[in-house]
Amino acid sequence: MKYYSTNGKAPIADLHKAVVKGLAEDRGLYMPEEIKKLPKVFFEDIQSMNFQQIAYNVASAFFGEDVDLDALQDIVYDTLSFDCPVKKVKDNIYSLELFHGPTLAFKDVGARFMARLLQYFIRMEGKEQVNVLVATSGDTGSAVANGFLGVEGIHVYVLYPKGKVSPIQECQFTTLGKNITAIEVDGVFDDCQALVKNAFMDEELNKHMKLTSANSINVARFLPQAFYYFNAYARMKQLSKSSNLVMCVPSGNFGNICAALFGHQMGLPVKRFIAANNANDIFYKYLQTGKYDPKPSIQTLANAMDVGDPSNFARIINLYSQNNRLTSEATHHRITNLISGATYSDDQIRETMRKCYEETGYILDPHGACGYQALTEGLQENEIGVFCETAHPAKFKEKVDEILGIDVDIPERLAAFMKGEKQSVAMSKDFDDFKKYLLTR
Ligand SMILES: *Cc1c(COP(=O)(O)O)cnc(C)c1O
Repeated sequence: MKYYSTNGKAPIADLHKAVVKGLAEDRGLYMPEEIKKLPKVFFEDIQSMNFQQIAYNVASAFFGEDVDLDALQDIVYDTLSFDCPVKKVKDNIYSLELFHGPTLAFKDVGARFMARLLQYFIRMEGKEQVNVLVATSGDTGSAVANGFLGVEGIHVYVLYPKGKVSPIQECQFTTLGKNITAIEVDGVFDDCQALVKNAFMDEELNKHMKLTSANSINVARFLPQAFYYFNAYARMKQLSKSSNLVMCVPSGNFGNICAALFGHQMGLPVKRFIAANNANDIFYKYLQTGKYDPKPSIQTLANAMDVGDPSNFARIINLYSQNNRLTSEATHHRITNLISGATYSDDQIRETMRKCYEETGYILDPHGACGYQALTEGLQENEIGVFCETAHPAKFKEKVDEILGIDVDIPERLAAFMKGEKQSVAMSKDFDDFKKYLLTR
């Protein structure tokens, strides 16, 4: 498969290059040249397959030309070593729980898949070790660190701002050891990001070691999220609840919902989609007006969705404009025919969490709450709604406990991280210090 850039000014790339580079030379996002439709029989039998089998079929359509099929199966089965159930919350509303992976949030799947795919390409090429640099304000670091943990041939450096990450988040990437090094930067998130950017541009450093990023826009992190939606359809079909399905995705950078839309292009029988936002309502406004007007992000309760300029917006436009062949009006029309939006303030998120808990006993996290509420308000009579619960409520324990007046159980996996010993390297925000450190590695 070849990959082109949404900006249209970069050379076509193969999968290997698209994965290692992340972003195209013209700063655009990579898109596969072809999105293959899956055969009818696949959808006829899908309810009899498990998550791994379904995902392998989907992965073959995306990656089957570029990765040996046995290796691809191994990568998929290793990535999806946990379940992804749908649970009935009320009437026609079901929760798709995407939080049964190592860090209890949906980004685990993309991170692990990317780690294993990168390892596959490293083995094909030779022995040189690859170093992943990632700056984090919390959750990306833990998903990437755990995804790459123990993957031979790759070392990960997670840079995070000292004192600015919650203890629950911090322990998920500082207690791992092995091929994961946590670097505690005396500064803010932007300082961490600047160190990583400077490292990628530094010639001497790039001669010394092979550097790559593991950004969420990377095709190897973003496309595997489509697996979730095929599996959701299968589980709903098993329950005989798969007609007139509405999928609702709490969205920030729009990677997760974009993967769902790729699934729809492959033939996934979903009637329509809802993108649920917190107070960062850029996409919601685009749907209303046809104008895209990015803004600085606002801090909210659902902080993993605090994005004022969603990076995957470019992918969605590219998909529905048929790579800019359609006018912006025609593109907007196609998008609004399939996707609607919703936006919620922190007060509305709190209210939703309380009401849902009182009425159903289901504990929502602040992100999932946006999805649940959008379905509660937007579902038509003959429709069945599935919303993504994108993180386990215990990941936001302080907020959830306070809002619901309960004491959320901490899953064993999270408790184990909290018992681990913190190991990190102290670093100033000065690039020369970071460079000196990396040159000794
Ligand atoms: C990343 C994240 C989101 C937003 O997903 P996007 O792909 O950026 O739209 C929602 N909820 C949680 C818990 C997340 O970590």
